[in-house]
Amino acid sequence: MKKYQLYINGNWLDTKEVISSIDPSTEEVIAEIPKADNNLVKQAISFARTTFDKGDWSNLAFSERAEYLKKISEGILENAQKLAELEARDTGKTIKQTTFIDVPTAAECFDYFSKVESELKGEQVSVPFGGQSTVVREPLGVIASITPWNYPLIMAAWKIAPALACGNTIVFKPSQLASLTSLELAKIIDKAGLPKGVFNIVTGSGAEIGKELAQNTSVDMVAFTGSTEVGKEVMSLASNNVKKVFLELGGKSPNIVFDDCDLEAAVGGTMSAIFMNQGQMCVAGSRLLLQDTIYDKFIELLIEKTKKLKLGPALDYSSDIGPLVSKQQRQRVLDYIEIGKKEARLLCGGNIPKDFNKGYFLAPTIFDNVKNNMRIAREEIFGPVLSIIKFSSEDEAIEIANDTIYGLAAMIWTKDLLRANIVSKKLRSGTVWVNTYGMFFNQTPFGGYKQSGIGRELGRDGLLEYTQTKHINIDLTSGGKSLVSSWFGG
Ligand code: NAP
Ligand code: MG
Repeated sequence: MKKYQLYINGNWLDTKEVISSIDPSTEEVIAEIPKADNNLVKQAISFARTTFDKGDWSNLAFSERAEYLKKISEGILENAQKLAELEARDTGKTIKQTTFIDVPTAAECFDYFSKVESELKGEQVSVPFGGQSTVVREPLGVIASITPWNYPLIMAAWKIAPALACGNTIVFKPSQLASLTSLELAKIIDKAGLPKGVFNIVTGSGAEIGKELAQNTSVDMVAFTGSTEVGKEVMSLASNNVKKVFLELGGKSPNIVFDDCDLEAAVGGTMSAIFMNQGQMCVAGSRLLLQDTIYDKFIELLIEKTKKLKLGPALDYSSDIGPLVSKQQRQRVLDYIEIGKKEARLLCGGNIPKDFNKGYFLAPTIFDNVKNNMRIAREEIFGPVLSIIKFSSEDEAIEIANDTIYGLAAMIWTKDLLRANIVSKKLRSGTVWVNTYGMFFNQTPFGGYKQSGIGRELGRDGLLEYTQTKHINIDLTSGGKSLVSSWFGG
């Protein structure tokens, strides 16, 4: 069985304790990952600190750091097949997705951030008293990055690439449920020849080492993606040294379907929004807001298509739906289905499919007659469970859509672009997709309103999160400005 090691200050290290990585399609143990304790994490932070404070990394020319990012991008592509298979085995995400989405997205992200030099340039600003004022962008320092299990490799790329581009050092902690591709990425980063101490990876329990990363006073910023509940704790731990907090949290995104939509496209998009990655997506369109005038017709088509979805092992190219990530996660979703059965009407799924006695499979599930105050409409289920809510007017749809603690994404299906524009502006969410779903670009920011987070990932905004600004003011007056140099007579 494959055994992985931690990567701290350029060295590969074993730990006394290890964690078994399980393939959720087969329930087999496929690898062992290190279980770091807080001493090791403190060491990793200390190396990252010293490397930032005393090393050359943050003072390198951008083009020199960019070379490393390009090499990492190439390294991901050279290992594409291996990474796609590993991600599918570690998470249960289908190989079709890991091959065509996860691996290329991660590689493109490193490549993109190798080309953003112009965004980091300082600028001269004209100020009333003459002299020279320059505003420069500097790296923040030591970044602790903590990620969830649903998109491990993509999340790693989104966190690591911009932080490195800006000249920070990193201690990275992936989810203990899915650390394998991040540990493979560490090997690629090592091979790219990054100076030691710049990138460090620790695996283990979030409650222990994640907490340490969030509270440690030598860390300048914690970049966290995960649940809103843990995000709140991270925020409070980070107050220890007033470190910068960057949070990408949960969602309960509304998918609004108006009666003037392209019906086939909207049904297809609705399925992508709730069944991709078995619904384990922060941007899952888990609340379908459906206009009353097309309600029955839409649901009929949706159920017909949902029943045709093929469940199967993640490594099988013909599988549409793989297993959930773990037994606990499936149980959590099953518990929500029981709650749903009491308050709404189950239209399909809701059970563990018969022919699957191994693996954490769950049938795609749809409820209707859902009211927005029910638990299945308010709480993030993080599984293949759709809650359908009926509406009649545009205003009503907007009100229901915004009536949530979350604000990550929203979708609108309509052929009327004027309506799309008006509704988009009224939705309180960081992303709005119109007649589409899941469009992320390295060039555009992604993040949450309300309790879905603080800060933005990707794009210019995402890059600048990993910097801080400094104002340098030089007085060029001969003898100095009298206001300053002669205030007390001189
Ligand atoms: P989670 O339980 O919040 O865990 C996220 C990460 O935080 C894991 O690495 C976890 O470690 C660590 N952690 C746990 N307790 C911690 C603590 N006290 N202090 C510091 N770190 C701690 O989330 P998850 O179950 O992995 O992922 C699902 C959640 O992530 C969903 O709510 C989803 O919406 C959200 N998500 C959001 C986005 C976004 O961009 N907005 C993207 C993807 C996922 P261990 O689990 O290894 O112990
Ligand atoms: Mg696993």
